[in-house]
Amino acid sequence: MPAIQWFPGHMNAARKKAEETMENTDVVIEVVDARLPAASSNPMVEKLRTFRSRPCLKILNKTDLADPQATAEWIKFYESQPNVTAYAMTTKKPADVNKIPSLCKKLAPHRGVPTKPLRIMIMGIPNVGKSTLMNALLKKRVAKVGDEPAVTKSQQRIYLDQFTVLTDTPGLMWPKIDMDSDGFMLAASHAIGTNAVIEEEVAVFLAEVLLERYPELLTARYGFKTEGMDGVAVIEGVGARRGYRVKGGDLDFEKSAHTLLLDYRTGALGRISLETPPSRAVRLAQHAAE
Ligand code: GDP
Repeated sequence: MPAIQWFPGHMNAARKKAEETMENTDVVIEVVDARLPAASSNPMVEKLRTFRSRPCLKILNKTDLADPQATAEWIKFYESQPNVTAYAMTTKKPADVNKIPSLCKKLAPHRGVPTKPLRIMIMGIPNVGKSTLMNALLKKRVAKVGDEPAVTKSQQRIYLDQFTVLTDTPGLMWPKIDMDSDGFMLAASHAIGTNAVIEEEVAVFLAEVLLERYPELLTARYGFKTEGMDGVAVIEGVGARRGYRVKGGDLDFEKSAHTLLLDYRTGALGRISLETPPSRAVRLAQHAAE
């Protein structure tokens, strides 16, 4: 049983709506989080769009937070898929955003004239930056931007210019999180909410990934050597460094865990990716063998 299950009822309705909209869509933009592109991709998007043979602009967003090396590997990986153009960007850079319309046009050259406007649907799980992207594309505030997981929004259809129309879908999420590690990566990156108990588990998971892939960033931020440490020890190390104590003098594990998560989420720890194509392949193989 996965540790984190998440399937609010409105996701069913969102899927139905997306199915209908797909019929009248020329290009699908799927936005994922560059730090965890596979875990933050909803398999339903792929299913819906390939069923209708729609091309996809796969946007790896938040590259300002992700490890550039890992992002380059992911771009190569997605570019090898049929009917997909992969694009790494951050909504923080207007120049990155401005390239999107022409990338979409290349994917559907028969559209984009007044009689046949290019119809683009933006899809993706909550919190990957869809609203921010819409706003940046439209250069004005039309969509609600929030840092709370799963802010529900109704579907919007907006003309970008005379020849291009954008449709936003409500955030689609996995119908079921198949692998625990996906749930942990999503929770660490704040794409799904957790309670305090699970948050500690999420922080331990994150600490273990950091130990494996970015020990030097832990040392740089918190000043301890990571040799011989496990995830719990990392969190204790963070708390000890910061002097987080509960009444009676014991270490405040909850606060320490929260600090580690916050330092990852804000980028204070550095540019970090939680998965790469090879690490994904290993997790999938492990999962299949279970
Ligand atoms: P949506 O749920 O997919 O529509 O996501 P939002 O547009 O509401 O964005 C979720 C959070 O991610 C907000 O706090 C945004 O400010 C933030 N965000 C969006 N794009 C980027 C980006 O490129 N870099 C960073 N660091 N944060 C981003």
